[in-house]
Amino acid sequence: MSQIIASQLNVTQMANGQAMTVPVYTIKGSNNGPSVYIQANIHGAEVQGNAVIYQLLEQFKQLDCYGDITLVPLANPIGSNQKSGEFTLGRFDPITGANWNRGYHFNDALPAQFAQANPDMAISEIVSQFRALIIDDLEQQKIDAPYGVTTGQFLCAKLQRMALEADIVLDLHTGPISSRHLYCPEYAKDSAVLFDIPHVLFIPQDFDGALDEACFCPWWQLQQAYQQQGRSIEVAVAAFTLELGSQEWLCLEEAKRDSESILSYLSHRGVVKPGLFTPKKMTRYGCDLKDYRTFYAPKSGLVEYLAPLGGQVKQGEPLVRMLRIDRYDHPDVIEVIKAPDDCIAILHFASASVNQGTELYKLFTNYFTLSA
Ligand SMILES: [Zn+2]
Repeated sequence: MSQIIASQLNVTQMANGQAMTVPVYTIKGSNNGPSVYIQANIHGAEVQGNAVIYQLLEQFKQLDCYGDITLVPLANPIGSNQKSGEFTLGRFDPITGANWNRGYHFNDALPAQFAQANPDMAISEIVSQFRALIIDDLEQQKIDAPYGVTTGQFLCAKLQRMALEADIVLDLHTGPISSRHLYCPEYAKDSAVLFDIPHVLFIPQDFDGALDEACFCPWWQLQQAYQQQGRSIEVAVAAFTLELGSQEWLCLEEAKRDSESILSYLSHRGVVKPGLFTPKKMTRYGCDLKDYRTFYAPKSGLVEYLAPLGGQVKQGEPLVRMLRIDRYDHPDVIEVIKAPDDCIAILHFASASVNQGTELYKLFTNYFTLSA
């Protein structure tokens, strides 16, 4: 049994003086296990992660949690409330146009500096001192910055401040209309089969502003900096982005299954009793990020999406059928657009009406099977 403590964290302030807050649930670990940070809904329309956090809380309160756990649903109070008609927008900051999940901070000078200054430091000291260093840097650069930062960067910094305390970071998202897929850093490849997620993207250590990268890049680059000095250390932090279905969609049953998938990873890591949850048997497919291809609409029109999500599509098989009803008297009133390569369709655009150049599908190409 674990006690869950609820609080609210101020993340920004609106023009009328009203504070914007996010709910924070914490559990104090009983036995020095790895610490965990789980966040959902930084993109306003991607609500399913909140249901997964609900189901995780339901499970955690019955379990003995060995490590400290922090859960943050509804992570973006601005994005969640950004509605247009019946839709939630919430992917981009309406003021700056920036993607809400690109505002996190990483100072790439720190890993090499730290490794050079502390070549022989004990590993436990490295973890605590390097963590303190990157937290201090985040506070100076983003939270207490003398010239300030944008609203989005401040929100991200307040969330990242909590995430940097953790050994395991899970950022819960969804695609637009999407199958489940996992973003997994290449160094943590072995962990990919511990989640019940059939499609896995392996990402390199480039920093593009997302939360998972902001949490693992410092540690991955620290490991590499030590390696260059001839010393081998583990990457101390694991961070993943889980894409759990489609936006504007919520299902508590599916969320229960996803909470068990997360628990099988956490159980393997010793956050809860090892062996309590185990990953499901399934065929898992991997794809390197460079082979994750966007298929842009070659022309405008009304779209019938044909390629099944999560399904394998052979080269030359149909992706979409397009209707140009304004050209009924022309041969191209209906046109089938075909897959340029063998691929797996992971997600597609949410609307059935597209401009030329719209991101129609995202596709795994050159995919491979993962062995458990
Ligand atoms: Zn997202």
